[in-house]
Amino acid sequence: MGQWANWALVLVRTDPSARRKQEGISVLLMDLRAPGVTVRPIRFINGAHFHVQMFFDDVRVPAANLVGVEHAGWSIAKGLLVIERLFVARVGDCKPELASAAKLAGTWRPGPGAQIEDALLARRHAELDIRMRALEAAWWPAVRLAEQGGSPELEASLLKLDGNLLLQDLHTFKLDALGARALPFDPRAIDGEPSPEPLSPGHAENFPLHYWRYRGITLAGGSSEIQRQIVAKAVFGGLTEIDRPRQDELDEQQAIMDGTLRRWLDKHYAFERRRETVAARDGYDPAAWAALADLGLTGLLIPECDGGLGGTVILRARTLR
Ligand SMILES: Cc1cc2nc3c(=O)[nH]c(=O)nc-3n(C[C@H](O)[C@H](O)[C@H](O)COP(=O)(O)OP(=O)(O)OC[C@H]3O[C@@H](n4cnc5c(N)ncnc54)[C@H](O)[C@@H]3O)c2cc1C
Repeated sequence: MGQWANWALVLVRTDPSARRKQEGISVLLMDLRAPGVTVRPIRFINGAHFHVQMFFDDVRVPAANLVGVEHAGWSIAKGLLVIERLFVARVGDCKPELASAAKLAGTWRPGPGAQIEDALLARRHAELDIRMRALEAAWWPAVRLAEQGGSPELEASLLKLDGNLLLQDLHTFKLDALGARALPFDPRAIDGEPSPEPLSPGHAENFPLHYWRYRGITLAGGSSEIQRQIVAKAVFGGLTEIDRPRQDELDEQQAIMDGTLRRWLDKHYAFERRRETVAARDGYDPAAWAALADLGLTGLLIPECDGGLGGTVILRARTLR
């Protein structure tokens, strides 16, 4: 949207001799009306125009426009990226997309008992719904932490990864549900914000525009590979024991669950059995899941008032903050 902007935050190299590439960068608030600034459109393959290329030829920026501390711009950028990643996890987009996907997938009745009649589509939609709920449940605590001045760096990367993949999968689902009806495309909608609603039951309005737009979200704000790297570094970096909290960190109930689970795994789900299960056609073992549910594992994080055990994730809490 740089074609509309008067100002830009620009990351500039201010100390070329810095030891690490992340050092020696500063953030400048740049007036885009200054001499030497050229803004050129980058048009998408479908003609849309969201992105620009900016050229800075000998542009002078007053020293007063330095944001924060000189040479410490990368820390500012990282802080901004955490907020951007929380935003581009797109919980707000997933919910209406999920509802419109259900409508497009065929017969759908709102309210209790809502269902998609095609069994395969109904199952896929239910899986997407579960992922969306898990995403939202994980999203709010991270947003609250950011609101309180914290920096949920790892959470933001995990949420971005998950939310972006979910949105892409949702659009693939819509594409499968619509078939050839996904094809109609009205180029006049390119510069406006087209409605995600279908024009009529047999005609999805400008689906290709949405579909292709969401392909880019796993790049924007740092590609998925970069997010995975951040996660791997945070989880594995400097930790010698990642899978096991120390016994003295567990309360009585946690210690009982820890012991019960370890005994069950040793007896019923050793390494070889897991390998066979993963290689089998369905890739999971319903009997093992039933046994784990009987042990109470699936209710660990569900509040007691809802019939769960009201547990907390102590490993995460220890590694992340
Ligand atoms: C929809 C959209 C909106 C955007 N909006 C903005 C914006 O408002 N402002 C802005 O400044 N930028 C914006 N961008 C740019 C965006 O931030 C970059 O495209 C993105 O960070 C990826 O960088 P790159 O394109 O240079 O890819 P590259 O860094 O060239 O990466 C190419 C490939 O190499 C991989 N790769 C790169 N480095 C590593 C590594 N160290 N380890 C492993 N794999 C690696 C990447 O994952 C990718 O697959 C936007 C991009 C998109 C698609």
